[in-house]
Amino acid sequence: DLGPQGAVKDGAIDPAKDVAHLIHPYTNLDAHASRGPVVIERGEGAYVFDSNGKRYLEGMSALWCASLGFSERRLVDAATRQLATLPYYHVFNHRSHPAAIQLASRLTAIAPEGLNHVLFANSGSEANDTAIKLAWYYNNALGRPKKKKIISRWGAYHGVTIGAGSLTGVPAMHADFDLPIANVVHAEMPSWYHGARKGESREAFAARMLSSFEALVEREGPETIAAFIAEPVNGSGGGVILPPPGYFEGIQRLLRKHDILLIADEVITGFGRTGRMWGCDHFGIRPDMMTVAKALSSAYMPISGTLVSDAIHDAMKAESRKIGAFAHGVTYSAHPVCAAVANETLKIYEERDIVGHVARMSPRFAERLAALREHPLVGETRGIGLLGAVEIARDKAERKPFDAASGVGPYIQARAMEHGVIVRAIRDCVAVCPPLIVDEAQIDELFDGLRSALDDAREWVLEKGLA
Ligand code: PLP
Repeated sequence: DLGPQGAVKDGAIDPAKDVAHLIHPYTNLDAHASRGPVVIERGEGAYVFDSNGKRYLEGMSALWCASLGFSERRLVDAATRQLATLPYYHVFNHRSHPAAIQLASRLTAIAPEGLNHVLFANSGSEANDTAIKLAWYYNNALGRPKKKKIISRWGAYHGVTIGAGSLTGVPAMHADFDLPIANVVHAEMPSWYHGARKGESREAFAARMLSSFEALVEREGPETIAAFIAEPVNGSGGGVILPPPGYFEGIQRLLRKHDILLIADEVITGFGRTGRMWGCDHFGIRPDMMTVAKALSSAYMPISGTLVSDAIHDAMKAESRKIGAFAHGVTYSAHPVCAAVANETLKIYEERDIVGHVARMSPRFAERLAALREHPLVGETRGIGLLGAVEIARDKAERKPFDAASGVGPYIQARAMEHGVIVRAIRDCVAVCPPLIVDEAQIDELFDGLRSALDDAREWVLEKGLA
């Protein structure tokens, strides 16, 4: 049998061919030539196996997405059933199909109040690009052509396409790509650990972030601002940043005052990740639009959605009466196989009470995460539900990071793999985001592996004189 696993072992799949032909996203392409790929061949529950047969607990759900793990048979069956019935059709120009109708109604039924309409695409980036276009379309429909700026935040991650990549607030993702585009501005990320002044309480910090946001709105001119976009809990850009107390309440007061739309990016936080259905549910967020992807299909098929309020949808319909068809949409919008897998995923969430399961697992996760605070390399731990991060510090008391070139984060990530767990280094932060199906023993396994990796890193920084 030369299935993928056998093929790698027999040299029929040659890692050198990977190096020669495959461009890897978010990879140092120069280093890849000498390092070569880690080839992952198969998955089972919360675990994946590499081409040497080594097993890893996937502590990141791959890219914060494989919520039901890597071997959910029902999703495979849903895909093959749909492939055999109608492998492809579209929803352009009044066409529809059963999987699309079911998914639109199932998703809007569990969405935050008032988000009754959804437009599907393939990736989180496209969902956010769509949200930008809809914010513009909405204001054009209302006869407010000047109200076009979108406020995002430094440290936010909203994707990589030209629009979403502009919203993303990570300078390295703008540099050399000529981003951001016009009409995108960035506010401060309210990260207490990184941004608080000495002795500043979380409440005082939140108040300062809100005045800074208000000053930005005044400076730009509220009449020019269409929307504000935020992840309820920031994920991969800043490293799991939770909002300080009162932050979203204050932001929403200001947005309402100036008639600015609120877009919630729930691409990571949606579908139970935080212990409630939506990240929005923790912070009283009432979005006008919401974007979802990743766990919408447990990542088994690529699908994303942009949900909109009745008010936005009414304006879109009114525009159709004026100018004709709504001229936006991708070929694979509501792709039947992706929609069928998403439908089955949402059914499983409901039947197995995945949100309740995460809520029940959260105390163990929180306890094991918080215990790492005692470690000499850890400046802070942050978490909610089954989403967490450990902030690595050279100087805990002063909250000072290691030199960016020291590579402590990547070292921890590599050591964790040696210990059989996959975590993710984001600069000075190590993130964890395991499949939502993990049990307490697996949570322990994840944090045991991470702690061992931190211990290795402690020795390593001492040896190298980095501490
Ligand atoms: N929004 C958030 C919060 C994300 O974390 C991501 C991806 O990690 C995206 C959007 C972009 O999604 P995609 O990579 O599917 O384009």
